[in-house]
Amino acid sequence: MSLSMDQQLQKRLAQRRADNLYRQRHLLQSAQNSIVQVDGKTCVAFCSNDYLGLASHPAVIDSLRRGVETYGVGSGASHLIYGHSQEHHALEEELAAFTGRPRALLFSTGYMANLGTIRALVDKGDHVFEDRLNHASLLDGGLASNARCQRYKHLDVSDLARRLAKTEGGRKLVVTDGVFSMDGDVAPLVEMAAVCRQYDGWLMVDDAHGFGVLGENGGGLAEQCQLDVEELPILMGTLGKGFGTFGAFVAGSEALVDTLIQYARTYIYTTALPPSVAAATRISLKILRRESWRREKLQSLVSRFRQGIADLGLELMDSSTPIQPVLLKNDALCQKVGERLREKGFLVGAIRPPTVPVGSARLRVTLCAEHTEEQVDALVDAIDSSLTELQKEGL
Ligand code: PMP
Repeated sequence: MSLSMDQQLQKRLAQRRADNLYRQRHLLQSAQNSIVQVDGKTCVAFCSNDYLGLASHPAVIDSLRRGVETYGVGSGASHLIYGHSQEHHALEEELAAFTGRPRALLFSTGYMANLGTIRALVDKGDHVFEDRLNHASLLDGGLASNARCQRYKHLDVSDLARRLAKTEGGRKLVVTDGVFSMDGDVAPLVEMAAVCRQYDGWLMVDDAHGFGVLGENGGGLAEQCQLDVEELPILMGTLGKGFGTFGAFVAGSEALVDTLIQYARTYIYTTALPPSVAAATRISLKILRRESWRREKLQSLVSRFRQGIADLGLELMDSSTPIQPVLLKNDALCQKVGERLREKGFLVGAIRPPTVPVGSARLRVTLCAEHTEEQVDALVDAIDSSLTELQKEGL
């Protein structure tokens, strides 16, 4: 007799457990902050993308509350069917000014922005070039389009140039993370823009982890590299990380934004963000531009953490961003250290394949402007003692 649906699914899940790849959720019982309550335990969190500590900022909370009072909770409709509120519109204008682009368009999530943008820009006969380590939403966007997709070597502009030179006919869309979400390193955007200019490539950058954090005013990697809309025509950012709220945007020319409004299915066929979230994001944008001390503090915590880990003789990656992976390589050890850290009151992502390449399991530590130096030092000590204990236990 053939297996039932549930039996087939159970078999697949059992295999995932056996492969040590089974993922579990934990129950967050507090606001996202440097100190959180998880599964009934108080922990210092080194795993959030709320890099600037804006998710719990009183002024951001207050604007959200006022937004709900004015606009209700849900937006009630998609942008094109009377769900586009004046708060969305004002935020789009402010994001355009912030990024130095003629226009910006809000999407309900970053995943949807990437999927919809790539699909809207390329079709059969076109080509998409992706960094091998791009975020899943960018890779999925390429796969969901009808274009031919290629993955070039991580950060390797020569490999990209070689592939572009060999490609004839069709549009050429070059897609990269700005800050790579699992490694914390950054794309060589200036060189990539030059190669795109040479071979008529359209450059798209997902700066989900750069906005708010990099650049003098928090304008991300594009600001840091001083790339204008001609050199970097498709700039995507998310609002759920450095901005501390929710959603995403794509900034670029009038023609780009108009094209996305007309053709991006993930823009057209989905409910608009709650207007109150747009209102709250307008305040967080103001704060992140003004309060450069948040970026400065973050950088000094990054340096402190890197020094501490280097002093332990552990392997770091080539990252100067708040994403600081500690390479442990062994999947089981990585998982155990993650669990041991949680027992000691520290939350750190234990990232294993298939999220990262085989043999590169890592603790993904993310730092936040709300952390103290003492918390960072305590985490370094806890990583050290966890590894020592596990070694003694024979792992
Ligand atoms: N791009 C990158 C690089 C990301 O890290 C993420 C979120 N992990 C996304 C896109 C998706 O953004 P969102 O969470 O808003 O869907």
